[in-house]
Amino acid sequence: MNIRKAEHIIRANAVREGAGVTVHRTLGTAGLRALDPFLMLDHFGSDDPDEYIAGFPEHPHRGFITLTYMLDGHMLHRDSMGNQGDLKTGGVQWMKAASGIIHSEMPQQTAGLMRGFQLWINLPAREKMSAPDYQEYAAATLPVHAADGLRVKVLAGQYHEARGPIRDPHTDLHYLDVSLLAGADFAHALPQEHQAFVYVFEGDARLAQTPLAQHSFAALGDGDSVQLQAGANGARFILVSGRPLGEPIVKHGPFVMNTQAEIERALADYRAGTLVQA
Ligand code: FE
Repeated sequence: MNIRKAEHIIRANAVREGAGVTVHRTLGTAGLRALDPFLMLDHFGSDDPDEYIAGFPEHPHRGFITLTYMLDGHMLHRDSMGNQGDLKTGGVQWMKAASGIIHSEMPQQTAGLMRGFQLWINLPAREKMSAPDYQEYAAATLPVHAADGLRVKVLAGQYHEARGPIRDPHTDLHYLDVSLLAGADFAHALPQEHQAFVYVFEGDARLAQTPLAQHSFAALGDGDSVQLQAGANGARFILVSGRPLGEPIVKHGPFVMNTQAEIERALADYRAGTLVQA
């Protein structure tokens, strides 16, 4: 067994994004531009009932997948594919922007709380201009494995008997939400060829002896397994992994393509009103 170590740790910077939402951004900053196939991780939230949250009004995307996981609160959304609705607490929205979508994402508080994650997952070159697609997974459809001091919710991949409903054939995505009581241990096997990261969002933990404070992102080194132990106040983290695509990444705001020319094309299409294919 070869245990993965923390290779690169980023402490989140809190920034204001959209129209007044606090975002803890780690992956996708100068600290780490990308962790192929992952492009960006945002941990957004508010625990101030009086904080004004206008959310993310209409904006475009092209070339990748956004995966939004609501921990608290809910999110009103609408997109150019005709999807419109309310992503409830504990639910996941999978949106394949591919050739282009325009959407709005408006997180809402429930009892003064709103928290969630948005992960950007890259698409292989052959899929970037394919048709957009959309799926929603309600909290009740996401299986949970509970044991002594440990609770693992599986969005994608498998943990013991729990198998997540989200499939990403291009990257073989695994995505676990792990809660540990104080001092509890977590161990999990991960495919050797996957890139993987941990993001601690409650409490603190040790990853193979490396301390990870709250709001730390750790890109993991080589190995076939992961081990974490919660600190004195317990810990909650996401563990995400996937197979790298190994293709060039050219990112410009909400567009992620393989070449600069494709970015220019996306900008031109957006300006011309043809980003979204009729
Ligand atoms: Fe968006």
